[in-house]
Amino acid sequence: MTTDTPTKLMLIDGEWAESSTGEWRDITNPARRGEVIARVPRAGQEDVDRAVASSRRAFEAWRDVHFTVRARALLKIADAIDERAEDLALITAQDTGNALRTQARPEVATLASLFRYFGGVAGEVKGNTLPAGADQLQYTRQEPLGVVAGILPWNSPLMIAGFKVPAAIAAGNAVILKAAEDAPLSIIMLAEICNEYLPAGLLNVLTGGGRTAGQMLVDHKGVDKVSFTGSTEVGRGIARDAGERLAHVSLELGGKNPSIVFPGQVTDKLIDGLLMSSRIHRQGQSCTAGTRLFVHRDVEDEVNERLAAKFASMVVGDPTDEASDIGAVINESQYKGIQEYIEEGVNDAGLTVATGGLPPTEGPLAGGNFHVPTLFTGGNNEFRLAREEIFGPVVVSIPWTDLDEVIAMANDTSYGLAAYVWSNDINQALSAAHRIEAGWVQVNQGGGQVVGQSYGGMKDSGSGREVSLEGMIAGFTQTKQINVKIDV
Ligand code: NAD
Repeated sequence: MTTDTPTKLMLIDGEWAESSTGEWRDITNPARRGEVIARVPRAGQEDVDRAVASSRRAFEAWRDVHFTVRARALLKIADAIDERAEDLALITAQDTGNALRTQARPEVATLASLFRYFGGVAGEVKGNTLPAGADQLQYTRQEPLGVVAGILPWNSPLMIAGFKVPAAIAAGNAVILKAAEDAPLSIIMLAEICNEYLPAGLLNVLTGGGRTAGQMLVDHKGVDKVSFTGSTEVGRGIARDAGERLAHVSLELGGKNPSIVFPGQVTDKLIDGLLMSSRIHRQGQSCTAGTRLFVHRDVEDEVNERLAAKFASMVVGDPTDEASDIGAVINESQYKGIQEYIEEGVNDAGLTVATGGLPPTEGPLAGGNFHVPTLFTGGNNEFRLAREEIFGPVVVSIPWTDLDEVIAMANDTSYGLAAYVWSNDINQALSAAHRIEAGWVQVNQGGGQVVGQSYGGMKDSGSGREVSLEGMIAGFTQTKQINVKIDV
């Protein structure tokens, strides 16, 4: 760290705050190992207590305001995000390593859309009335839960904050975000923007450790819901601890997602779609990455060959460089973990490296956490590389011939987050989509989440839905029934 390294603070009760512990964490540049780009506070118990108290105060007022007040605030924030879009994208590229052009800018655009969408549907947080006779008024209210703790991962902090904050606030809750240790800077910038338009305490932003600040929020009696996105392992502990005190919980966890290619013409659209669904542009650091590629034997050679060529044509480089298609992996520990998987694949006689392999050890990429897109072919569903979430730019292609067998392989995983089906026969495609155990199946496309859609996992990929209108109501409200006797 140099003397001009920027210091970024937490937002508590509308004010910028250091940690009560006096501790700091250096934030480093994934593209240049050892380069410190900022330092942020490590929140302790006192900070968590202060954030919870201020969120509770803000909630007491916000729960009763007219929905148009909530809508107006969210729409203003959406406009302000648009105005600062380039700053948000740049800071995202700098602390996450996600490439500016292909990843960081689209992420910011999704964030603005999510604020706009939930601003638009804030008035839809409605109850219903029962036709219970002239002497009865029997109706329900969808009431907010209270204080929501949103715990974020590092892979796409802004988009995931966008899945939580506007929906929770539109439904009348207050939110405390706990940013990921390695990528808090874009979330602090989002806090700056929101702080202009929201009452103090309605959105607090903490930085700090998972086992410290994160766990304190999970255990805090003043937190009514924990909305967690991260690994399955940590999610399991959060479900246990928040469940122990009967807090509401939703979990968006890991994935090892199948992508099934049926026989047919191998078009450019198919190859581009497979590239997109593999989330190679995000260094494979996406819970929805289609990393188990089941290709029908009739088209196996052509698909693998053309996809390998596509992977090889991607430009890996500094995330802030416009020329880069792919940026850097978040930190050295993830980088090394991915490298171990690749080494295992390279040394396994059962697998062939169609493109990529071990990361560069010389040249401009050697100084950062850069991996190259890697496609293994000839695998089967039993390989460790096909079973565990690598969270790197690594795809394993597995041939198939029998439909029942490929559906069984697709479902033979503890995860159930996303899936992709590629077929020009719509009956075939939809029948497969219905049989796959995943919370989100895409047919003949591989893009990211779109505003308004439902999103969430099955099996070990999580539980609860928050992102759609229905998700907002299910995830951020509770139903109260009111029965009134009328003298007629
Ligand atoms: P992680 O589980 O290590 O950390 C996520 C967050 O939880 C961080 O903010 C961390 O500080 C916090 N945390 C850690 N221990 C905690 C504890 N005991 N109590 C409370 N909070 C705690 O995950 P990560 O490495 O940051 O992210 C990668 C993982 O996230 C991958 O498994 C990926 O699939 C998953 N993910 C899922 C989705 C989804 O929508 N399903 C989206 C993005 C990432």
